[in-house]
Amino acid sequence: MGNSTTHHGQHEPQDGFSDNNAWGHGDVTALYPVILEHSQDIITVSKLDGTFVYLTPSVQTALGYLPSELVGRTRDDWYHPEDVSHWEQVRQQIMEGKDQGSFTCRLRRKGGGYGWFEVRFCAVRDGSGAVQWVISFARDVTERRELEMALRRSRDKLSHAQRIAKIGYWEWDAQQQSLYWSDEMYAIWGLPPGQFVGTMEAYLSTIHPEDRDYVSRLMRAGMEGFRPFDTQFRILLPDGSIRHIQALGDLDRDVAGRLLRMFGTVQDVTERKLAELRLRTAEEQLRKSERLAALGHLAAGIAHEIRNPLTTLKGFTQLLQGSVNPDKQSFLRIMLDELTQIERIVNDLVLLAKPAGAEGRAQRMVDILERAMQETEPEAAAGGVRMEMRAPSESPWVKCSPGQLSQMFCNILRNAVQAMPNGGVIQIVVTEAADWVVVQIIDEGTGIPDERLPHLGEPFFTTKERGTGLGLMVSYRIAEAHGGRIDIESQVGRGTTVTVSLPRLGGQAL
Ligand code: ADP
Ligand code: MG
Repeated sequence: MGNSTTHHGQHEPQDGFSDNNAWGHGDVTALYPVILEHSQDIITVSKLDGTFVYLTPSVQTALGYLPSELVGRTRDDWYHPEDVSHWEQVRQQIMEGKDQGSFTCRLRRKGGGYGWFEVRFCAVRDGSGAVQWVISFARDVTERRELEMALRRSRDKLSHAQRIAKIGYWEWDAQQQSLYWSDEMYAIWGLPPGQFVGTMEAYLSTIHPEDRDYVSRLMRAGMEGFRPFDTQFRILLPDGSIRHIQALGDLDRDVAGRLLRMFGTVQDVTERKLAELRLRTAEEQLRKSERLAALGHLAAGIAHEIRNPLTTLKGFTQLLQGSVNPDKQSFLRIMLDELTQIERIVNDLVLLAKPAGAEGRAQRMVDILERAMQETEPEAAAGGVRMEMRAPSESPWVKCSPGQLSQMFCNILRNAVQAMPNGGVIQIVVTEAADWVVVQIIDEGTGIPDERLPHLGEPFFTTKERGTGLGLMVSYRIAEAHGGRIDIESQVGRGTTVTVSLPRLGGQAL
């Protein structure tokens, strides 16, 4: 192409907008009015005080004014009252020598209402440097602005919804290696917003130690061959409390299969978890007590059948005592003792199923206690234990099934005797209080350690080699069935006081 530039006889300057334009189509400046005529932006020329000198016709399509309506007027009515200050700042800047700038503001439409505009301006100075004109270019950004607002509103709504549902959102950008946490994530983790270092170590340190291995494996699997997950684990908060969370995760890959981002939600399910746990414990307890009840029925049924043959055995053994060689007498005594022991167990078992009840016979409290003492006497005497009763001269009355009540006191007295291997005194103190008859059985025995107290009355809870752990349980049930209760106080090494309270039968009780 060597010579072609010489056609026009001279080199044209490379500046296409110079008067001698590059394409040789004449003077472009002649087109300026046409360009202005068709500009979509509103271009204005004003004096520094804001009075309009020129506006492009686009002001009509954009805001509804004819340019002639505005020429000669100031901008005061043009701006939204809250945005007038922008123009004041522009003037200030120009006077300080900064001739260019931009801002976003609302401009008044002729028909009412406002549109959002992005405004750029520049100042034109004369030879002496004085500001001659201010030119501004205003672009309608209302639509974009509204979209932005709508987006922000829907983001707000989303974050409200997440807060209410206690759902947090996280996103890990694999390219940027950056982690985003929504506000609710911080709330669930009990951290001030923004205060989380997005490293794997920092994250794992917030996981409950027992779940840490699991979560770490899950995350590694995620980095390698990721599958969407839905899982639960526990986290540790800075204040030491534990939260159960449900975590869902998924990911995006590019067409080449490279990991782009991982994201997921986290929901605080602590309350649900605790409710489930409570429900499960309650169910277990129910099953346990159902099992016990069934067992009790079975045991009681069998015990009932054993009772009659047992009575026969005991009767004949007693009869034999008269006719057996003196050197064999001790065998019979042992047999009788053992039979009595069996009888007691059988009696307790029978009461397991049959809810004891006040069959409604009026009895003198003292009579019942004397019966129980008589029955306990042989064992007490053998252990060097003395029983002393103190009662009001007029015995209080109770409405009861006398057999059951004396069985109850027997159980309590025998426990007291058995707690005193070195002998001692058991005091039985009867008092009356308003509607109650109170019987205290005070021993000087070994006492019961505090941690064992709550287990008293549980079936089969015993500390004795030949114990059954049925005595107290049956006693509690008898007391309850009579509308009363049993309380036990104890001091290790000093002794135990068992307090039985029963409803008192008023007056002479007959
Ligand atoms: P058992 O007498 O067959 O062991 P009980 O139900 O009567 O069953 O008593 C349960 C347990 O409660 C006893 O094994 C004993 O450890 C404790 N206990 C009950 N009464 C006393 C008491 N007066 N002094 C010390 N321990 C007692
Ligand atoms: Mg006992």
